Amino acid sequence: MKLSGRVERLPPYLFARISQLIAQKRAEGVDVISFGIGDPDLPTPGHILDALKRAADDPANHRYPETEGLPALRSAMASWYRRRHGVELDPDAEIVSLIGSKEGIGHLPLCVADPGDVVLVTDPGYPVYEVGAMFAGAEVVRLPLREEDGWLPRLDEVPDAIAARSRLLWLNYPNNPTGAVADEAFFERAIAWASRRDIWIAHDLAYADVTFDGYVAPSILEVDGARDVAIEFNSLSKSFNMTGWRVAMAVGNPTLVDALTRVKSNLDSGIPQAIQEMAIAALEGPLDEIESHNRIYQRRRDRAVEALRALGLRVDPPRASLYVWARLPVGEQSSAAYAERLLEETGVVVTPGIGYGEAGEGYVRLSLTLPDERVDEGLSRLSAFAGGR
Ligand SMILES: *Cc1c(COP(=O)(O)O)cnc(C)c1O
Repeated sequence: MKLSGRVERLPPYLFARISQLIAQKRAEGVDVISFGIGDPDLPTPGHILDALKRAADDPANHRYPETEGLPALRSAMASWYRRRHGVELDPDAEIVSLIGSKEGIGHLPLCVADPGDVVLVTDPGYPVYEVGAMFAGAEVVRLPLREEDGWLPRLDEVPDAIAARSRLLWLNYPNNPTGAVADEAFFERAIAWASRRDIWIAHDLAYADVTFDGYVAPSILEVDGARDVAIEFNSLSKSFNMTGWRVAMAVGNPTLVDALTRVKSNLDSGIPQAIQEMAIAALEGPLDEIESHNRIYQRRRDRAVEALRALGLRVDPPRASLYVWARLPVGEQSSAAYAERLLEETGVVVTPGIGYGEAGEGYVRLSLTLPDERVDEGLSRLSAFAGGR
């Protein structure tokens, strides 16, 4: 019997290939150190876990939640945006909670695109933007990002004929995988460009609070006119080390928030309420652990940058995100071949840039989400490999 075209067209999940290679090396007895997947190694802060434990005993939390999230959660999300970004949001019309932002990102194209419409994604980029569009039957057009542009898309180079068919533009700053950041001036240009062409903007702010050297990442909603065209995805996953709990929000344009809520209400029944209580505790609680986590990541970043430079890779230290994005040494062409050779020779896993799109070729990504001693061990293996060449 047949499977659908959309399932047949699914690209092999990038991390599946890496997991397979890791499993093979481990079976050979190699102590593999993976800088592959971006999933914080540090635990969820204790006061957030306490909220879950308390909420678990309350029978009111044992029943179906509402798709859009508890009023108290949406109000905590609104306060968070006020406190963190100076942005006022109406909790009833401009906020919907999500079972992790991946879910909302995957579903958004169903709200704005019909078969034959175009969804614009950046390349390299988080793979879900493209898959979500494909599931909606839309055509994906990739906007290449280049190092010389600071990894920002050249919107003026999108052909008029493509722009005329486009319904949605994905942006993601601080960026995964490049670690690049965007300022308000870029968001202003993007909003002006998209409004003139009746194209929605979806901004993925997953790394809003993973920042270094005093950098503060803006929300697109801080920019005038954003609310007319934009929805923003903001997740507790990376900010509060809560990837396992699945809680995030989509905020901004009320028409988009309403459409996403309606799609979701037909597919899921919202975040388990005890986990919503955790999110309230996170958003309303002390933020010192965000700062101490960022200091840890920043130290790892600095060590990684030094080791990679010794290996002949070119790196700009990122001001945000959990990733170091490095240009291959001169003479190396294939990021996949280079990553496989590092794994072969050192037992260290890095992600080939090609896995994030064709424009990612020539680069590798290292995630900083493994314990300090593993970071040190992995990097000293890379240094030994550099010294041995
Ligand atoms: C991690 C990540 C997400 C997903 O976060 P969840 O809220 O855990 O689903 C979304 N976008 C980008 C770019 C990410 O790196």
